[in-house]
Amino acid sequence: MSAEIIDGKELALEIRKNLKEKILRLKKAPKLVVILAGDDEASKIYVRNKQKAAAEIGIETELFRFEENSSQKQLEELIDRLNQDKDVNGILLQLPVPAHINGNALLERIDPAKDVDGFHPFNIGLLQNGANKATIAATPKGVLRLIKSVKKDLTGLNAIVIGRSVIVGKPMAMLLLNENCTVIIAHSHTKDLKELCLKADIVVSSTGCGKMVKADWIRKGATVIDVGICRDENGKLCGDVDFESVKEVASYITPVPGGVGPMTIAMLLENTIEAYLKQRG
Ligand code: NAD
Repeated sequence: MSAEIIDGKELALEIRKNLKEKILRLKKAPKLVVILAGDDEASKIYVRNKQKAAAEIGIETELFRFEENSSQKQLEELIDRLNQDKDVNGILLQLPVPAHINGNALLERIDPAKDVDGFHPFNIGLLQNGANKATIAATPKGVLRLIKSVKKDLTGLNAIVIGRSVIVGKPMAMLLLNENCTVIIAHSHTKDLKELCLKADIVVSSTGCGKMVKADWIRKGATVIDVGICRDENGKLCGDVDFESVKEVASYITPVPGGVGPMTIAMLLENTIEAYLKQRG
């Protein structure tokens, strides 16, 4: 029997609807500031989509654009000013930044209370401590929500996270560990990836290697979450997972597009509202 498809688009819509209602009850609209440095075309699209989604639910946004040749100091000064501004609830630095800019230094400069991306070491540390007051990076937070939409209790399950990026793989592994899963983190140097995958009840893949995860890597009945955004040999959008074959083995699977992507934006919006509420005690 074919796997049940976890519809990230539908779940994200429902979350956004609830967030919109929540905002209507607030005294003032939360404000998210987006910083975009450089000319990366994909980043411009991501930023536009984030601003549009925020506006739809009543989050005010402001975009600060910097030229490719902007200086570290200019960006630092803006972050310092935004940190002090009581009307700003969330600060998002769109990555990647131009090569001569130290992105990590900028992320560390953002007030952790306004770090809606959850990339500040303070929030990463809170997540590691298992504290539920951490701001969690939007993509892994969304992935966990997708898994929990079909499996309430993850205790004792074997999970594998393929990819160890700071924005997805590492926080994802920590979230699953906090849910009492036994977690393997695999990466480009991992040996016997197929065998490790076959042990997993939950597979989360975030590598960018199109259709790498095949049906014979998947244990019957597993839950498979595909974070990857890739192009297949015909230029068609696909994920890390060979969806058509894997769906015949898994119990639950996310599609690309329409799986993790919409949840990432929904979680960013949720993080912004949570930041607003925390700042107002
Ligand atoms: P990354 O691009 O920074 O790094 C890739 C990771 O995959 C590394 O940890 C690497 O070790 C691992 N990897 C590469 N080849 C591998 C292989 N053959 N076997 C095992 N591991 C391998 O990671 P990222 O930023 O998490 O992005 C990964 C993919 O997820 C990209 O396609 C990206 O576009 C996508 N992504 C999607 C969303 C979303 O919202 N849907 C969000 C973030 C990233």
